[in-house]
Amino acid sequence: MTAKPVKVVLASRNEAKLTELRRILAASGLSVELVALPDGEDVAETGTTFAENALIKARAAAEQTGLPAVADDSGLAVDELAGMPGVRSARWSGRRDGTRVERDEANNALLLAQLDDVPPERRGAAFVCAAALVTPAGVERVTHGELRGVLLTEPRGQAGFGYDPLFLAGGQTRTNAELTAAEKDAISHRGLAFRDLSALLGEILTA
Ligand code: IMP
Repeated sequence: MTAKPVKVVLASRNEAKLTELRRILAASGLSVELVALPDGEDVAETGTTFAENALIKARAAAEQTGLPAVADDSGLAVDELAGMPGVRSARWSGRRDGTRVERDEANNALLLAQLDDVPPERRGAAFVCAAALVTPAGVERVTHGELRGVLLTEPRGQAGFGYDPLFLAGGQTRTNAELTAAEKDAISHRGLAFRDLSALLGEILTA
């Protein structure tokens, strides 16, 4: 008899994130059915670190559903800006209206203007991700992933989202927005954090 997959909720209604995490869990051989967060009020991301925000979201999802919950929080940390935009990455330009693409473009334009006179050797940055697992029994774990690279002076590429067109990862000749989804997953901050989290999930669910 095949064991029934364990249900785990992802503290997000973002389809792309759900698909990405399902791919990573399937590759790790875990018998997990990942479900999206049911409709409800969004929890305020009031943490000052990626780990705090990921834990806030995972705790709320575990409480709401009674299921083990996973969540992530991520952003771009720019050396020249002392680690900003950091947890403010999604809202960096202050723009709240418009589509996600328009808000991403506004963020990218502001970042480019802020780094206008910064030479190539000081344009280092990292995408950072914290992924959290919280069970209804109160087990809490956080994993981290980081992708270092440099920021270009103009956008390149159509794939990905957010700051991807400006970001050239270490060892790459194409920006994140010129990589395929699979190529980006293999090196990305989220891929790294989620792969480590799925290993922990395996240990905790079979304990
Ligand atoms: P969240 O973790 O979905 O809240 O993402 C926060 C923000 O960080 C996004 O809106 C993007 O601006 C930025 N970000 C996070 N991960 C990436 C990435 O893989 N590529 C480009 N931008 C990213």
